[in-house]
Amino acid sequence: MIFTNGILRSFCASDARRPLTCRPWSVGAFSYATNGRIIVRVPRLDDVPPPDDAKIEKTAKQIDEWLAKLDDTPRVAVPRIDIPKGRSWTCDKCDGRGFEHNCPGCSCECTDCEAGTCHQPVMVAWRGTHVSPDVWRLIAALPGSQIASSPPLPPIYDHVSFAFDGGVGIVMPMRKPTIPDDVEPLIVAAEEPAQSAA
Ligand SMILES: [Zn+2]
Ligand SMILES: [Zn+2]
Repeated sequence: MIFTNGILRSFCASDARRPLTCRPWSVGAFSYATNGRIIVRVPRLDDVPPPDDAKIEKTAKQIDEWLAKLDDTPRVAVPRIDIPKGRSWTCDKCDGRGFEHNCPGCSCECTDCEAGTCHQPVMVAWRGTHVSPDVWRLIAALPGSQIASSPPLPPIYDHVSFAFDGGVGIVMPMRKPTIPDDVEPLIVAAEEPAQSAA
């Protein structure tokens, strides 16, 4: 697989307040992309320009240091798992309106739901940490992807490293969501692929 600017963009977010996440950027020998929950690093691509913000160069150094520390972590093929959807239900707080107040034209979006529906959070459990389903799918789709097989070590608590054909990356742990606070997340355990008998 040849990485391109376009593929790297699938790891970005569109949060204008966080320039780091808006597009891929190149520093030194590498190009990077992140959405704040996953970082990928590949050899520098010609069509990925340097960051606009000089602070991001410092961030790249920090990412390189993390990756160097995690470099010799043993890894296994990323388990291909079915990730079920959690439960969904009509929001109690806004009675399914999606807005906080029962007045026409209320523009206060309800903080408990998405457009009137609540969704049970889903988390993928892996070696003492949790990863969000979208991030897990992104890693699993990378060619030849392998994920750290042991819990991460200090000082990079619960950041999980991974590698793939053509690059490396880090996953940030998914924290247990706090809203709505009476709903337990659905935890999906990822299993290592069975060893094939020789
Ligand atoms: Zn609501
Ligand atoms: Zn309102």
